[in-house]
Amino acid sequence: MEGFPYDPRDALRLLRGLPGDVRLHEPLCRHTTFRIGGPAWCFFVPRERSAFVEAISRARAEGIPWFVLGGGSNVLFPDEGFPGLVIATKGLRSLEPDGPRIFAEAGVPLPVLVSRGFPALAGIPGTVGGAVVMNAGTREGSISRHVLAVEVLGHDGLLHRIPAAECGFSYRSSRLKRLHLPVVGVELAASVDEGPSATELLRRRRDSQPVGLPSAGCVFRNPPDAPPRVG
Ligand SMILES: Cc1cc2nc3c(=O)[nH]c(=O)nc-3n(C[C@H](O)[C@H](O)[C@H](O)COP(=O)(O)OP(=O)(O)OC[C@H]3O[C@@H](n4cnc5c(N)ncnc54)[C@H](O)[C@@H]3O)c2cc1C
Repeated sequence: MEGFPYDPRDALRLLRGLPGDVRLHEPLCRHTTFRIGGPAWCFFVPRERSAFVEAISRARAEGIPWFVLGGGSNVLFPDEGFPGLVIATKGLRSLEPDGPRIFAEAGVPLPVLVSRGFPALAGIPGTVGGAVVMNAGTREGSISRHVLAVEVLGHDGLLHRIPAAECGFSYRSSRLKRLHLPVVGVELAASVDEGPSATELLRRRRDSQPVGLPSAGCVFRNPPDAPPRVG
């Protein structure tokens, strides 16, 4: 591909032996809710957590630019595309209830989590990993209030379990985002939200927003003294 710094064969070599789907020059517009974005030099959908971690580790070691993509509901890629490896988490969908806690892999769709007792997050597209990094939420609450710990791939190449108190959650952001840490999975408290039901929140959203049209949700930051009406 013209303008891309690496030979496509290097992508196949980089990902050799890793279970997952590899696509060269995949148009990113197919993977974003804005439906915008040119091709990625290489697009990888790992099927296992270990392949996700290994792909990032290899890209880091070779100095190849990489980007972790969740549901693509809060990203805007340029028409030129991404000159490196895009690793999509959508193949990592295991959700393991374990007594008072749930472990969700990064690619679990947020609506699946909502159906397990987190109605306050109803209507937010994307994945659990993206939601934690962005501290996604609605007027009824943000995901951070359910998070016990986040498993990340550290800059040292090792997996770390970061307790929620050290994740630096703030309004639609986190320390994980600022430090560019890949989220592998999230440990959540298996409690049921009080407040409006998911059905009610979805109805409010349908009544007030053009659901289904290309977008990334809110574009402007809400002023601190005027919380959002819905999302
Ligand atoms: C119609 C619509 C409505 C929306 N409503 C809301 C709302 O009510 N409230 C709200 O908070 N947001 C809302 N959003 C925005 C968006 O859905 C959230 O920010 C969502 O949490 C993004 O998750 P994602 O998986 O799609 O992340 P992506 O868009 O794929 O990625 C967003 C960022 O997170 C990073 N990222 C994703 N996964 C990982 C991972 N596993 N590890 C490390 N980094 C990762 C990406 O690199 C990128 O920087 C809306 C968007 C749309 C399109």
